[in-house]
Amino acid sequence: MTYPIVYHRGYDAQSVADGHRFPMRKYSRVAGLMEARGATLVTPEPVSRERLRLGHERGYVDAVLEGRLDARAEKKIGFRLTRDVVNRSRLAVGGTCLAAELALEQGAAANLAGGSHHAAPGEGAGFCVFNDVGVATNWLLATGRVSRLGVIDLDVHHGDGTALILAGVEGAFTLSLHAEKNWPRAKPPSDMDIGLADGTEDRAYLAALQPALEAFFDRARPELVFYNAGVDPHREDRLGRLSLSDAGLAAREEHVVSACRARGVPVCGVLGGGYDRDAEALARRHALMVERVTAP
Ligand SMILES: [Zn+2]
Repeated sequence: MTYPIVYHRGYDAQSVADGHRFPMRKYSRVAGLMEARGATLVTPEPVSRERLRLGHERGYVDAVLEGRLDARAEKKIGFRLTRDVVNRSRLAVGGTCLAAELALEQGAAANLAGGSHHAAPGEGAGFCVFNDVGVATNWLLATGRVSRLGVIDLDVHHGDGTALILAGVEGAFTLSLHAEKNWPRAKPPSDMDIGLADGTEDRAYLAALQPALEAFFDRARPELVFYNAGVDPHREDRLGRLSLSDAGLAAREEHVVSACRARGVPVCGVLGGGYDRDAEALARRHALMVERVTAP
């Protein structure tokens, strides 16, 4: 048995061109890799307006869904909010919610999108429109599916939007391990923040991760973990500033998944960031998390 993988063709918004700074094609390529390896993909529904409001301000949700966001707000996100970009943003949140439910039922699941951790309550930023993990966390808590939930965010950028959405939310605990000098400059506090120096390599990265995971589980005592497995700490990433190898990333995924399984905590993996002009290499890096999370 392997665990569920959630994907929708609409994750890849065709209006965002191949040469865009954001590598939109990576979603369909990761899905193609997983299908080639025999995976069956589960299809999510777009998230409802009501559920989006559990993580975002009503005015922001309405402006995005009704196509009324102004040019300045769009510029901060980095996309023109065309119909398929708005649709993909709703599908990605729906996908993380579905993957979380499946993880709670079966022990693990992955969404082949999500990890949009820069989206804040009242605005999007850094290619993130809606914060899937923030919305899903508040939804799982509000509906009583869980009472304690943890976010392990290993994308190379600080999880600022998630920190803002989940600040003061009882039962939610956030860990961000990131490159300290990287964007965003303002880093509103997570429950645990670990900033790494530029150029950090595999050994030092994993040495920081191990005790962080121990402390995270001690403090969060989660019933479900969201794992944002951004691959932008890789040494060839255009936006990363860190220096992990493929083997280092694979070891990272192994550490996180083993730590969850050893404690019997279900894990829901989401893709997160990754910026490389070589889309195939990028897809293979993201697949490391998907394979490890969903392996029997
Ligand atoms: Zn990132």
